[in-house]
Order: sequence, then C-alpha cells, then structure tokens
Amino acid sequence: RCHAGGTISALRPPATAGGQLAEVDTPALLLDLDAFEHNCEKLRKAMVKFPGVAVRPHAKAHKTAEVAALQLKLLRASGVCCQKVVEAEAMAEGGLTDLLLSNEVVAKRKIERLAGLAAAGTRISVCFESEANLRALNAAAAAQGTHLDVLVEVNVGQDRCGVDRPEEAVALAAAAKALDNVRFAGIQAYHGGLQHIRDPQERAAKVGQVVDRARAAAGALTAAGHPCGTVTGGGTGSFRIEAGSGVFTEVQPGSFAFNDVDYSKNVQEDGSVNEWEQSLWVLTQVMSTNEGRALAVVDAGTKAVSLDSGPPRLHSGFEQMYGVTMEYVSGGDEHGKLLWPQGAYQMPMQLPPVGSLLLLQPGHCDPTVNLYDHIVSVRGLRFGAPTDFRQAAGAQARVEAVWSVRGRGPGH
Ligand code: PLP
Ligand code: MN
Repeated sequence: RCHAGGTISALRPPATAGGQLAEVDTPALLLDLDAFEHNCEKLRKAMVKFPGVAVRPHAKAHKTAEVAALQLKLLRASGVCCQKVVEAEAMAEGGLTDLLLSNEVVAKRKIERLAGLAAAGTRISVCFESEANLRALNAAAAAQGTHLDVLVEVNVGQDRCGVDRPEEAVALAAAAKALDNVRFAGIQAYHGGLQHIRDPQERAAKVGQVVDRARAAAGALTAAGHPCGTVTGGGTGSFRIEAGSGVFTEVQPGSFAFNDVDYSKNVQEDGSVNEWEQSLWVLTQVMSTNEGRALAVVDAGTKAVSLDSGPPRLHSGFEQMYGVTMEYVSGGDEHGKLLWPQGAYQMPMQLPPVGSLLLLQPGHCDPTVNLYDHIVSVRGLRFGAPTDFRQAAGAQARVEAVWSVRGRGPGH
C-alpha cells in the first residue's frame, strides 16, 4: 500500500514545507538555515583577505543542488567541487554550470557520463594522474563533440592518488596539450589527512609542506612552458594557509557549511574551538528509558549517524538543562544509547521522557548526510536551541523546504 500521495514509504519525505518541527518523522537530517548562512558568510569574509583566490565549496558534504546553489549565492562563488560523477550529475541537474571533479574518473561509462555533462553545456574540470586516463578523457570528449578541462593531481603527502614528482606533472601537461579535446588547466594539491590536526601550529607546519610541494610542481610546470591557471586544494581545516600561500588560486572547503563534532575540536590560532556553527543536526526521538541503568535510548543508530570520526554529541542545550554531559554509545543499527555519566546524576533522575525529540551533532558530516534521502531545512532553530521541541521554544522552528539528496550513495 502506498502512503497518501502515492510515494512508497521509504522514499516519502520525513516532513513537509511549512510544517512544524514536532511533525518531522525521526530520525531526520535537519539543516538549520540560519547557522548555515552564518557559516557561508563567515567563509566569504575570511576569503576577502585573499584577493584573487576563489572559493569552490565541496559538494561532497551535501550532494544536493539546492544547498550548492544557496552556497554559491552566499559566497558569491561560481562553481562547486564534486568527488563522484553522480554528485556532478546531481549538481548539473539542479542547474549548476561549473563543476570540478576533484578526483580521478577511470571507468569508461563514468567518463562518458562526465563528458555528457560537458556536452550539455556544463563546464567540467577533472583530475588525472596518467596518460592512459588522459587519452580516455580526450576520446570521450571528442566523441561527444566537447572538451574537458584537466588538472594534474599532485601527491602532496596523503599518498593516495596523484603524481609524486614535478617531472611527471610536466610530462602529463605536455601530453594534454598534444590532444584536442582536453585543456590543461593546472594542478590539484589536496591533503585531507591534515585537516583535523587539532593544534594550529602543527597544522600550519604540515600544510606548509603541502604548499611547498604544490609550489615545486607549479614552478616546474611554468618553467617548462605550462603555467597553471588553477592551483586548487585546501579544506575546512587548512584553507586559509593555502589561500595565503601565493601558490594556490582556489580552495575547496566543504564541511565548513555544516560542521561536526570532529571539526568543532580543531583549535584556532587564538586558542578558540567551535570555529563554525553547527547547522547540520540529526533529529531523533527517545524510544526507551531506564533509570536503573541511567540510560535513554534514541532511534538513531548506525543507519542514522556515522561513527567513523567518533560518536555524535547531544545538543548542548539539553546538557545545560540537565547539567551533565551525556555520552552517545552505539546501540546497534537502529538504536543509540545516551548514557548519563556515572555518579553525576541525582535521584530521582531526570531522564527525557519517551517520545522526546532531541538533536544530535553528527561526529562526521559527510558520511552522515550520505545516509539520508532528504535534508529538512528549518528556520528558527538557533534561537530556541534546546531539547525537547514539544515543550521548548524550538517547537516554533518551521520547516522551510525538504530537499532530495540526489547525489547520495557510494558514488556510482
Ligand atoms: N577537497 C577534496 C579533494 C576532498 O577530498 C575534501 C574532503 O574530503 C575536501 C576538499 C573538503 O574537505 P572538508 O570537508 O574537510 O572541508
Ligand atoms: Mn569529511
């Protein structure tokens, strides 16, 4: 049986625009639009210090064209990064016209799909690291009467993809110039492993080595007659360093817009943490409580929150109300256990009653978003903060829109 409206239940959005927060089906992914806009404005202002350096926000975080369009407007930017072809398709379908595939694309059918986006009028740039891949990109673009901009990926220490030596980058740039349907556009030099180094001095020192390696590659290319129009890289944890290096022309932060527990722990140069506001939340519901075991069980398990970068954290408004810090422990695929710290509570214990709506700050935003079919964007959440939205001021929050996460999945 179909639900009213004809959509099978698994694909049915958990909320409707204009509705109240208390009517949202849980677990659901919420986007606090006020906090999201704040983060975009903060990034835009940060980038004003680096004239001539573009920001190309990474769509791997949201995989949703509506979010990308909003970001570009707020950042006054012209394009986004994608990590997978299906993300690029989701962006193009939503009307975006300038996409960087910040990754290698090697499967023949995927290359054809990518060239298809270019043929349909989207500006497509893509990373490569071998001549064989370059020829395949060129052939697919030629077959569809279009061209692709290509960037040599340079390994700057993460040791995943990318060429290790500047001479290899020079040879690949020369090879690209000999082909008709690819245009050598520059290099990508990204190191994801450094983004979450907590200490700002240590982070800056290690990203300095990334800059050195990017400079060496770009210098060798220029010397060989292949100047780089684009030198792109940097994420939420490091973009200021790349942007201020004099080498990079573009930065690619993604998580800044949403934030997560992991990024909230990065220490800034002034000693502060929580650089970005939390805009992404998992709305969950208490399904069981047990006073003897000092436990509340919520309906968000590992199918609702990623645990790869540590557990989610309960919204601080709730912790303030109870005066304790609750720990989220996995209760399995469909359960999350909120544990009261041993001895930190007084009897009778104040557990949130069954049915209470709570907010979890995801441990890691990107894989958490990827678990959801929809993003429920809301207004007014920030100003009510708290806890159980049936009683608290947050109940005033309104659903503004519900968006399909069209680029979600493993990335086919
Ligand atoms: N650029 C590339 C190539 C990435 O792989 C990533 C994330 O993994 C980013 C940019 C964005 O990083 P962050 O979400 O940490 O800002
Ligand atoms: Mn990530």
